[in-house]
Amino acid sequence: MNTEDAVRFRPYTRSNISEAPQWGKLTQDQRESVTVISRVLPFRVNSYVLGELIDWDNIPDDPIYRLTFPHRDMLRPQEYEALRDLVLVDKDEKKIERMVHDIRMRMNPHPAGQMTHNVPYLDGRPLSGLQHKYRETVLFFPKAGQSCHAYCTFCFRWPQFVGMEELKFDAKDASELVAYLKRHKDVTDILITGGDPMVMNTRALSSYIEPLLVPELSHIQNIRIGTKSVAYWPQRFVNEKDSDDVLRLFEKVVASGKNLALMGHYNHPAELRTPLAQQAVRRIISTGATLRIQAPLIRHINEDPNGWAELWTTGVRLGAIPYYMFVERDTGPSHYFELPLAKAYEVFQQAYKQVSGLARTVRGPSMSAHPGKVVIDGIVTLAGEKVFALQFLQARNPDWVRRPFYAKFDPKATWFDQLVPAFGEDKFFFQEDSAPAREEQVVEHRIPVASLKRTREVHADAPADVS
Ligand SMILES: *Cc1c(COP(=O)(O)O)cnc(C)c1O
Repeated sequence: MNTEDAVRFRPYTRSNISEAPQWGKLTQDQRESVTVISRVLPFRVNSYVLGELIDWDNIPDDPIYRLTFPHRDMLRPQEYEALRDLVLVDKDEKKIERMVHDIRMRMNPHPAGQMTHNVPYLDGRPLSGLQHKYRETVLFFPKAGQSCHAYCTFCFRWPQFVGMEELKFDAKDASELVAYLKRHKDVTDILITGGDPMVMNTRALSSYIEPLLVPELSHIQNIRIGTKSVAYWPQRFVNEKDSDDVLRLFEKVVASGKNLALMGHYNHPAELRTPLAQQAVRRIISTGATLRIQAPLIRHINEDPNGWAELWTTGVRLGAIPYYMFVERDTGPSHYFELPLAKAYEVFQQAYKQVSGLARTVRGPSMSAHPGKVVIDGIVTLAGEKVFALQFLQARNPDWVRRPFYAKFDPKATWFDQLVPAFGEDKFFFQEDSAPAREEQVVEHRIPVASLKRTREVHADAPADVS
């Protein structure tokens, strides 16, 4: 650690960022952008991100700065001008509130759907804080884990961090989760996610995890935790008050015969360069837990294939496992972050070709779309037509997985819903017997599997692409 400040967790948001020792390194214009845009989009950094990850000689282009600090171009020019006048000159809170709301609404904040789609039922009652989209894996959102050590500017969960979304998660305990899992023996994986569950102290985290270790849940083989803490606050596993306790908890899960898998969200190799971040990886793995590496591909932040290759190879050297490269989804300031699918494929291929087989456990670029996780396998010419070769890595209907299918090549397409079938066909194979079905019905009747064949039109308002 270079600075004393980085040792102690100190979060910075719009209200106190001017107290950060680095605030003086921003130009007047950059400070204005932060002040204005953080009204619309979530903004939170911490002492470690500021002190250890951002290269202040390289702002605003530094990727970690881009990853955490609002940039003027995240709003449309007229929006920015108008909001700036309200915030800095007019200062009428009512008017500001109204404009902020309007801007958010045009930013496709549909992750409302994230919380309402794929909600499972128990005795006819929807279980809040749970999602069940793929047969084997249930997502669990403990209320105390719905924040992060710092926020990513591209985060698809942004509406929840600005209070747009009413989260009605069962905060008390894991009892509904356990009851649901006891009845669903084909579930093997539980993914605890957020936000970031690792913002919880070990006692709170244990209260969600230990109930999963009972003999009646022997079909649960993998307990996953989706987390950005390995990058934004590796102290969580190294030198915090209860760092050792959290490692003991991981050991306890492993001793029970289950796999404890940390799904580590790393966006950039800089996040894995610090000695502290590397120590965190080693300590996590020393418990017998596994650590996987995944992240979306984001313009301005991680477009460089060499960066991905460095991230994966460093990870593998430390004992982690490269897992997914995602395509960033269409929400928030997506015009600022998105890349064409063709470019995403190129970045993946250029990175993948550099690494040894041990790092080629990674799959991508993958879109978490409504019917499933669709990976772009290549861009090829077949029967005289240039096409995207695609397949499902994960699907609502398990029968769809790993069946090659083709979409017309489109150099501008940035998401699955913009693609159309190749060879003049009018639908993709999985759309064959589509019948109108309400989301809830699809999920409620997910077993028997036959009912999964009924799916809605393909669209992109899919829920979490966490994994
Ligand atoms: C990605 C994902 C999972 C896990 O899929 P794996 O391929 O097993 O990692 C589970 N649920 C949802 C909603 C997902 O997006």
